[in-house]
Amino acid sequence: MMKKYLWHMYYSGMDTVDINDQWFSERIGAIFCPECQGVMHPEKKCPDFIVEQRIPKNIDMFFMSMCNHVGVMSLKFKNILGEFSGNLNFGKIHVFNKMHDEVTHFAYTGKTPQVMIRGALPALMDGLPVLDSDERRYCNVCGRKFHFERGARFIYDDEIPEVNISWTQFAGILFNSNVYDLLQGYKFRGIRLEKIEIKNRLS
Ligand SMILES: [Zn+2]
Repeated sequence: MMKKYLWHMYYSGMDTVDINDQWFSERIGAIFCPECQGVMHPEKKCPDFIVEQRIPKNIDMFFMSMCNHVGVMSLKFKNILGEFSGNLNFGKIHVFNKMHDEVTHFAYTGKTPQVMIRGALPALMDGLPVLDSDERRYCNVCGRKFHFERGARFIYDDEIPEVNISWTQFAGILFNSNVYDLLQGYKFRGIRLEKIEIKNRLS
């Protein structure tokens, strides 16, 4: 049988911008989880953010420190996604003390639960394999999931979201061939594209 795939696009670099500390700490409990600092209820709304530095203008995806599970996408990329961008929630990103700056990037979360892309190998801790358990994989307060596996990435067929675009624990977007076809012919900077194999859970 032919292998089936989805596609995953995510930020390929290491640089981040800093979220403004005071702004962030004042919102712990209301917007951000007091336990894991993740965005609470990301499927309902993506918050607006205040960051300390400008996001490099020509980069199409980026990270914000402290909230690196929330994606950052350029206006250009968002526009190319067109109506498919309706599968994501967007928040504004302001640079501290430059509140009237032109907005070239948006923060985003998914409207469906974050997809945990699996790895073929277990995570290692002190050189020993760590077995996944529900206790390890979920924040006790907000329910945010965490990822520990390594190796070739895949998802199970019963985990495929019913939307064209969803989001992943790498703050990336996971999408199907409808979106893949749309993106052909465009060049993006700062982005890695990888195929994610769809495996049958029972086989
Ligand atoms: Zn949490």
